Amino acid sequence: MNGPEISISFAPELQVLAAPARRGGATAFVTDGSSTLGHIVESLGVPLTEVGALLVDGRAQPVSYVPRERESVEVRPVERPQRVPGAPLRFLLDVHLGTLARRLRLLGVDAAYESEDIGDPELASRSAAQRRVLLSRDRGLLRRRELWAGGFVYSDRPEEQLRDVLGRFAPRLAPWTRCTACNGELKDADKESVRERLEHGTRRTYDVFAQCTACGRVYWRGAHHAQLQTIVDDAVREFGDAVA
Ligand SMILES: [Zn+2]
Repeated sequence: MNGPEISISFAPELQVLAAPARRGGATAFVTDGSSTLGHIVESLGVPLTEVGALLVDGRAQPVSYVPRERESVEVRPVERPQRVPGAPLRFLLDVHLGTLARRLRLLGVDAAYESEDIGDPELASRSAAQRRVLLSRDRGLLRRRELWAGGFVYSDRPEEQLRDVLGRFAPRLAPWTRCTACNGELKDADKESVRERLEHGTRRTYDVFAQCTACGRVYWRGAHHAQLQTIVDDAVREFGDAVA
């Protein structure tokens, strides 16, 4: 190509997504003269789900803007907390994010997830049909046009993934109100009404507190409770007031 040459720089938060040669700071880029900012940014590896303001010579421009010779483009990250207007805040997680899905549900955040790989086209169309924010570590998936909204999950560690999502989208937290197995809503339950679902040892030892309205699973304060309570307490302490 020998079209217009521009200069482009990515914010530090976005550099992990950008092509390696683009990570240091502003670099020169030769466009074909008709590509939009959105196309150029994606072609350099950064999904538009991660992009906030696009500044051209210091002025904000839309993704449809076609940059011209010697213009300087600065790519900023999405603002945090990020608002996703148009529907209640709900998520859809790809097949690799099962632990994150269960932790979001533990905190009462609506997090759809299938443990089977349903494929990128199906994930994208579910995001659109159900107006869910698709969370993924797959940049290609996040570039699909049909997505309602999306978010790249920056870490591969569940603790950091949870903080990333809670800090970015600031969902309302309602711990112990959602089934970690199926994302259904929980209702209060007493031991008598769910007696036949419990093992004998459980029946004797634990206090039942909830049952899933969707799959019937019974929840009680059992062996893993302290560990889960720690996850809840940490999240509420840091993000409990940060409601979008
Ligand atoms: Zn359930």
